[in-house]
Amino acid sequence: MIDENCIFCKIANGEIPSKTIYEDEDFRVILDLGPATKGHALILPKDHYNDVYELPEDLTGKAFILAKKISLLLKKKLNCDGLNLIQNNGRTAGQTVFHFHIHVIPRYHDDHQHIGWNPQEISQEELEEIQKEIFES
Ligand code: 5GP
Ligand code: ZN
Repeated sequence: MIDENCIFCKIANGEIPSKTIYEDEDFRVILDLGPATKGHALILPKDHYNDVYELPEDLTGKAFILAKKISLLLKKKLNCDGLNLIQNNGRTAGQTVFHFHIHVIPRYHDDHQHIGWNPQEISQEELEEIQKEIFES
């Protein structure tokens, strides 16, 4: 299903032109308009899902297999030194376009980008509490 008000639906289905580097019946892969680095690509399903919570399992599997394929393609063609796969869900996590997408970001020794977090200190007891909260019902 397509959302009439969604820009990524329009891009994914070819209504708005984009710099496409791969396409199949389920996905279009485009170059990001505000790239972190040379070759920063976005994997877009052609159907509209807001985020990973909504994405059906079969497409989730296909999306991550495609992420691997695009990673190998970018490594081969652009000769990058590393690569980040990033997938944001929700405003708090940095999502700005609410149509599921995976960022494929080639990294270069001198790219001056910082993709990361500030590691917090945590005790074994605190880790155990969290483990219980998640793992035990
Ligand atoms: P998010 O922050 O939601 O994970 O990522 C959204 C990404 O989409 C950003 O990296 C932004 O640069 C990119 N973007 C937003 N609008 C457009 C557009 O119209 N075309 C393309 N190619 N990229 C876009
Ligand atoms: Zn959409």
